[in-house]
Amino acid sequence: MLEGTDTELSTDYFIEKERLDPLAEKIVFTGMIDEYYDYRFGSLEYRSLVFEHEVLDTANYQGNAVVNYTDRETPYTRIIEHKHFEFGDQEKTVITKEYPKEWEKGDEPYYPVNDEKNSALYKKYKELADHEAKVIFGGRLAKYQYYDMHHVISQALKAVAKEFGA
Ligand SMILES: Cc1cc2nc3c(=O)[nH]c(=O)nc-3n(C[C@H](O)[C@H](O)[C@H](O)COP(=O)(O)OP(=O)(O)OC[C@H]3O[C@@H](n4cnc5c(N)ncnc54)[C@H](O)[C@@H]3O)c2cc1C
Repeated sequence: MLEGTDTELSTDYFIEKERLDPLAEKIVFTGMIDEYYDYRFGSLEYRSLVFEHEVLDTANYQGNAVVNYTDRETPYTRIIEHKHFEFGDQEKTVITKEYPKEWEKGDEPYYPVNDEKNSALYKKYKELADHEAKVIFGGRLAKYQYYDMHHVISQALKAVAKEFGA
């Protein structure tokens, strides 16, 4: 898909905006919509995560790639055992414990908080976004939605169909 395109990695759109904007007729923006508008109505809230990795001296820790913990007492929400994604047969195993964390500026914004307060705030940003002629807002951060992969691919295909009138 990227063949013949100019691709720049490790480039923050907001830092390079003045240089980048004139390069394209249309922009697909997949970052945070509140950041795009410089938080003019306030910050949307997100949930973040902390990942804790461990190498264990055992060939098999939990017999499965992902085990969820939904009880109140366990501080992490799931344990990933990476080797089971690829049927690894190594002597040791690597696990990752995933802990929920309230998002602060600078953290990775993993999940939107689609409660009443944040949905009302998002609506204000969406109204601005709907009037942008040059920018297409797409993906989980620009739409402030929880998307699984199949949702985000479906949304991308719909955006293409709308753009090209297919
Ligand atoms: C912890 C976690 C686990 C998940 N597990 C699953 C799963 O098991 N199955 C599943 O189907 N889905 C899962 N998902 C959801 C899936 O990852 C998302 O649906 C998908 O990645 C969303 O794609 P996107 O393009 O909207 O956003 P992203 O993949 O986040 O892409 C947005 C892109 O925009 C770039 N960007 C943002 N701001 C800027 C900026 N200022 N300048 C330049 N670039 C910028 C980012 O670097 C990123 O590359 C999971 C998500 C999380 C957070």
